[in-house]
This record gives sequence, structure tokens and C-alpha cells, in this order.
Amino acid sequence: MSIHILPVQVASQIAAGEVVERPASVVKELLENSLDASANFINIEIQDAGRQLIEISDNGSGIASSELALAIERHATSKLVDAQDLFNIKTLGFRGEALASIGSVSRMSITSRTADSQVGARCQVDAGHFLHIEPVGAPVGTLVRVENLFYNVPARLKFLKHPNTERRHIDHLVSLYALAYPKVRFHLKQEARIAFQTSGNGDRREVLVELYGAEIARQLLEVIAEEPGLQVHGFISSPALTRSNRREIHFFVNGRPIQDSSLSAALIKAYHTLLMVGRYPQAILFIELSPESVDVNVHPAKAEIRFRESERVFSGVQRAVRRALLAHSPVPGFGDTLRWSAQYSPQHAEYVSPQSSDFGHDIPKSWEHDQFPANDEIPSLSHEPYRPSTIIPEGGVSLLRLIGQIANTYLIAEGPDGLYLIDQHAAHERILFEKLSIFDEQTNPSQAFLQPIMLELSSANARIIEEQLPLLAKIGFQIEAFGPNTFLIRAIPALLKDVDPHVAILALVEDFEEDETPLKSFNEERLIARICKRSAIKGGQALSAQEQQALLTDLEACQSPRTCPHGRPTMIHLSVDLLERQFGRRGAR
Ligand code: ADP
Ligand code: MG
Repeated sequence: MSIHILPVQVASQIAAGEVVERPASVVKELLENSLDASANFINIEIQDAGRQLIEISDNGSGIASSELALAIERHATSKLVDAQDLFNIKTLGFRGEALASIGSVSRMSITSRTADSQVGARCQVDAGHFLHIEPVGAPVGTLVRVENLFYNVPARLKFLKHPNTERRHIDHLVSLYALAYPKVRFHLKQEARIAFQTSGNGDRREVLVELYGAEIARQLLEVIAEEPGLQVHGFISSPALTRSNRREIHFFVNGRPIQDSSLSAALIKAYHTLLMVGRYPQAILFIELSPESVDVNVHPAKAEIRFRESERVFSGVQRAVRRALLAHSPVPGFGDTLRWSAQYSPQHAEYVSPQSSDFGHDIPKSWEHDQFPANDEIPSLSHEPYRPSTIIPEGGVSLLRLIGQIANTYLIAEGPDGLYLIDQHAAHERILFEKLSIFDEQTNPSQAFLQPIMLELSSANARIIEEQLPLLAKIGFQIEAFGPNTFLIRAIPALLKDVDPHVAILALVEDFEEDETPLKSFNEERLIARICKRSAIKGGQALSAQEQQALLTDLEACQSPRTCPHGRPTMIHLSVDLLERQFGRRGAR
């Protein structure tokens, strides 16, 4: 093929790919425009997860009729004049690309009126073709309607995820901006249902409650720190409230949500020794610094930025977080109510990261992984790689004689042929899993509370729980809807009587991985496994001799005692034969 210049439409579709990846990116760009226009009310309506319709209206400054046609041109902006301005950006937008990009991959109409004009104007674009512009009556502000997104780019359509996933991305995005702009009233409707709304009264805690539910919002600690040229404020979780991944760590720089893994690492480091391996904090931190100290023009979707003095920012964030953690320690109330599910104990923190010394040193390697927590990993003999042959063969286990507990995490038992090391968490998970899976009131009775327990969730989570109510009822949870996003827990399976019911239920809605679709792909087994994971005794918890014995007896009674419901081993067998070889009593093979 000879070299040729691409037709404008093709070029702009290519460029649009960088800015508009999925429905949530359209919502992001349009929201940013409304915020840049100083709106204090933004209404968003979504149909078919954004494929059919994304409509955003605001009461901002509006676009003059004479400029409307220009606004949808590529590189048309009112926010920047020359390249010098790039280093002093105070608006969210500046690239002048969003409207042009969105217009090139959808049917888009913009209706807008400024305060000093009697009438407004509407212009329409279809797949990058300018259709027409006409005067219309309209309130002051701007309304953008985006229909049939990607209808002319079928390849993009194929890359869209399940509608629930796309919806969640939109929910998530709007909630981030609502947190960043508490003085703006947000209203988000998805498929004719209010998904999220805020009052715009300036109270961030209120937005947090809407977002995470009252229970979690209450547990978030406030961060406020100021040093010359740098302000850090926001909310972080106490060490008692943790996540299995970094997905609930959010940073905003000068009002812009950004992704920055070094910044997350700095934050996690500030929790040094306070978190169990494999657990992560939750944070919403706002960093304010002068616009000249950040380069916002490094990413087409403006999701990443560059700091001029990154080290200074990282250490500033660490100091702020560390100070907030110290100010709030000891964390009130944890440990005493959650007997089986206490997530944190100081001895354990010491135990899991023996190589860690004082705050300020490098993060132990295992903290860097988003994978299984290291304490769930398979311990290996000496430094040899783990050999499956040390697991006992299939079949029941019996006649284990308890010797005791080590490191508050493993039970040691003697069996017919050697020594068994049992991971107490994995073992308990297995036991709970098998017992809960029996849907039979005799074997698996419910236990009612004298006072029903109230559970308040974010609307997104409430939807997930609602869908699971029949299944939860089957395994012994009696939960009923009680007002919007609120439930009453009347009874729980007696097996879980030592577990905080909130913890057990939240296990169903927490920590979903990027492409998991919590609503659809839940089957009974996964749901029960999730509950068990969060409800089982943790590593790092001292057990009485009776508790140890009970655990062992229950494990012996299991049908598949050797693995936890997630397939990891519950026990390791060190046969007499192996011991003899390790001690050199017999020639090592
Ligand atoms: P950018 O935001 O980078 O300037 P856009 O393509 O998003 O580029 O928007 C182009 C221009 O249209 C903006 O600079 C702004 O002047 C105007 N505009 C877009 N949306 C709105 C809105 N909701 N209210 C007022 N003006 C808007
Ligand atoms: Mg913009």
C-alpha cells in the first residue's frame, strides 16, 4: 500500500479510541466539562449500560450559540491558549478532544444556553458528521445526549464487558467525582433507577455513606495535613478494615482522580506492620499542590499525571497517613466483638513480616502482590520448592492426635504415618463450607437475633445483596429489605454465631476483581465459599486447647478435608519416611 493521509473521519475515530474506551469514559469527559463549567447540579441518565443512551445535563455556564458548532471540533477548547498554559492547568479538561471524539463514535446532540442569551441552541452530530444546528428554548446550562455509542465502530462494541460491569464502572466513576466535589449535587440514574445521588451540601462523610454504607464510612479515619506547597486530606481505613486488593485506594490531585501505583505504594508503606500480608487499606486522598508542580498532559484520558517533585509528594502523603493512623490508635472496638474474625493482631503482624523493622524501610516483597495472601501460601520444607508428594493422598483423615498450635496459625497433629501441619484458617473454611452447604434446618439451623441487626449498604451493594436473598435464605440467613439500601438481618446460620453478621454479608459484595460480575456468575458454591473465607478463624489467632481439638475433629469429619473451598491445601503431611530422609537417617534421594 502506498503512503497516504487518512481521511479525517478515520483519523478522528483512531484518536477517539484513546479518549473514549467505554461508556464510563464518555461519562467522565462529560462530567468534567460540567464541572469545568462551574455547575452545581449534574444529572446523569444511562440506558442499557450506556450503549443506548448517556445523557448529562448541568446548570453550568453553558456554551454560546455562536460557539456551539466550534465546541465539537477537534482541538477546540476554551481552557487553554498556548503551550505555556499546559503547566498551569486549573480545569479538568484542556485537550479540546472530548466532544469531537464522542461525536465521532455515536449520535450526539448538545443543547446549551448561556445566562446572557434568551434562547439556546442545539447541534447534532452523527458518527463525526455534523448534521445541523438550530435555535431551541432551553434552561441555562448544557445537556449532552449520546446515543448508540460505538454503533459505527463494531470492534469497540465487542470489547465492552457485561452490562453489569460497564454499569459498575459508571457508578464508580460518578461516585469518585461526587467525593471530589461534595458541593455539587449529583444524580445518577441507571436504567430508570436511581443508582447514586448526593445532596451537594459539601459534607464528604455523607458521600462516603452513600458510597460505602454507614458501617464502613464510620470506620474511616480522617486525614488532614498541610505543609508548604502541599495539602493532603481525605479518609483512610483503620488497620482493622482491610481489602484483599488495592482497588479501594483512590487519589485525587487538584480535584482530578488519578492512578499512580507509586503513590499507592507510598500509602501502603505508611501502614507498615499494621496490615496483614496480602491485605490492603482503603483510602480516598485529596492532594492539593500548585498547578505548576504537576504535568497533567501525559495521558489522553488524563488518568495519569507526573509530579515535578514526586519524592516530596510521596513522603508528604506517607507522613499525613502515618500521623492519622497514630492519632487514631489504638483503633477503638476492634478485636473484642469479632472473636473469630479479628483481622489484626499485633503478634501476627510481627510474625508475618519478620524481616520488617521500623517504618521507612522497604516493603516486604509479599506486600507487593495482589495474589493470595502469603499466609495462605503453601509452606515449604527448608528451601526446597513445595512438593505435592508431601500432601497425603485422597481419602478421609482420621485418628489425628493434637499436639498443639504454632505461630498462632497452624495446628500440629500426629497421624498414623507422621506429622500433619494444618492451616487453621483453611481448615475452618473447609469445615464451614461443608456444613453450610447442607441446606437442612436440622444439620444447619438458623439462630435468630433478639434484636434484628440493621445493615446499611451503598446502592450498588444493596442491589447485589437483593439478588442473593433467596440463596442466603436457603443457607440460613433471614434477611429482609428495610427501606432503600437497608436490610434487617433477623437470623444467621448458627454456625456463624461468633461472626459479625456484617462481615459475613459484606463478604458477598467486597473485593470483586476487575472483570468479575458479581450479580450473574454467583452460584451457590461461590457464594458459600465467599462467606466462609471471611468468617473462618484467621491465622494469627491463639486458640484454646478445646478450640484446637474441635477444629481437628470437625476437619476429620469433612468429606474433602485436604483442601479449602478455594482449592488450597488445608494440611501438609510430613511422613515418617520424609522425616527420616530429611534427618539423613536414610539416604536422600
Ligand atoms: P475541553 O474540555 O478539553 O476543552 P471538550 O471537547 O470536552 O474539550 O469541550 C470543548 C469546549 O466546549 C470546552 O472547552 C468548553 O468551552 C465547551 N463545553 C463543553 N461542555 C460544556 C459544558 N457542559 N458547559 C459549558 N461548556 C462546555
Ligand atoms: Mg472536556
